[in-house]
Amino acid sequence: MVISDKLLELANEAEIALKDRFAKFDEIAFKNTKKVLEAFSEERVAEAHFAGSCGYGYDDRGRDTLDRIYAKVFGKEAALVRHTLISGTHTLSTGLFGLLRPGDTMLSVTGKPYDTLDEVIGIKNDGNSNGSLMNFGIVYKQIELTENGKVDIEKLVEILKSEKIKVVYLQRSKGYLDRPTLPVSEMNEVYKAVKSVSDAYVFIDNCYGEFVEESEPDADVIAGSLIKNPGGGMAETGGYLAGSAKAIELISYRLTSVGIGAEAGCTLNTMKSMYKGFFYAPHTVAQALKTAAFSAYIFEKLGYHTNPSWNDERYDIIQAIHMLSGDKLCAFCRGIQAGSPVDAYVTPEPWDMPGYSDAVIMAAGTFTQGASIELSADGPMKEPYIAYFQGGLTYESGKIGILYAAQQVLDN
Ligand SMILES: *Cc1c(COP(=O)(O)O)cnc(C)c1O
Repeated sequence: MVISDKLLELANEAEIALKDRFAKFDEIAFKNTKKVLEAFSEERVAEAHFAGSCGYGYDDRGRDTLDRIYAKVFGKEAALVRHTLISGTHTLSTGLFGLLRPGDTMLSVTGKPYDTLDEVIGIKNDGNSNGSLMNFGIVYKQIELTENGKVDIEKLVEILKSEKIKVVYLQRSKGYLDRPTLPVSEMNEVYKAVKSVSDAYVFIDNCYGEFVEESEPDADVIAGSLIKNPGGGMAETGGYLAGSAKAIELISYRLTSVGIGAEAGCTLNTMKSMYKGFFYAPHTVAQALKTAAFSAYIFEKLGYHTNPSWNDERYDIIQAIHMLSGDKLCAFCRGIQAGSPVDAYVTPEPWDMPGYSDAVIMAAGTFTQGASIELSADGPMKEPYIAYFQGGLTYESGKIGILYAAQQVLDN
């Protein structure tokens, strides 16, 4: 594919403008890599940890050690890292069902959660008969973010003082919403405020946020997908939950069975890619951040609105670009697809994806199916036709994908 000289010039200009930003991403990757290496060293990681187990998986050292490594690096007491958690949604669902009991109330303080949780909670699709949280008698409430995109702590504290809340739920990343992503400092304020007036669990959907900052947010539970940031582009599947020993124990009973918890669960042949992925993750996240900032610069100069802007602080790896028409959104996705290492020859089309309310167009030429730490873009086919773009295992390949996307949009 041809990239015009004009676009290549713009790319050079972008990299000069982004020099300090890129240096900041590298600095964070350095600090987080150091934390990962220290945890590996303290836990005496050795070849034996990669062997994997079968059957019940009792005394699987690789599994138990990786749990402790995640807990250490994320600043938590305990963690569960499992290939049997099939996705982010499954991981979040496992966490919520582990903590909530009939009659309990879950309060989301970042507005409506990610689309795929609608059915888990029971907001949608006959949630009263399909085994959703609501079907089990759990009450769901939410409060919206304030006008400037912050958690309404005042209102939250008021609610906590007047009624019994079991889980305060936050979604760190914007997901498919055009709102700011929460910085760690703000989530830590929420945690402090909650703990000052109640014993509710603070539960954070941490998807897309891992390793973007120097530490992870304070919480009773943080949870995410291994085919996003913490899998480093190497983990083939899986999810993690990390948090207080008490919360993680309760969740382990939902993950496997009451009475068994984290003591069983074989790892088959998954351990090496999970360890290696966690080792790579801080670096891979920096590659994705560079790709995102680069794309923001290019598309802003081409006249598009972006969130975040190229020079803004970044709190997750997602870049939103307002394409303003379905044609341009599709052109953008075609370019991303063409710049992918796998399936570069196929043409993405919008489709009705299970769990999502609008038709979605996706571009993903990934080694691991659906892995969004790899170069990928998705956009719901509705006004203002926002392309949500993320990933790039290497900055070089991400840059090529973005330039192809820009070229496709310009030619459209
Ligand atoms: C990706 C994502 C999820 C769901 O993860 P899946 O792996 O797609 O099920 C939930 N919340 C947020 C914020 C996400 O980005």
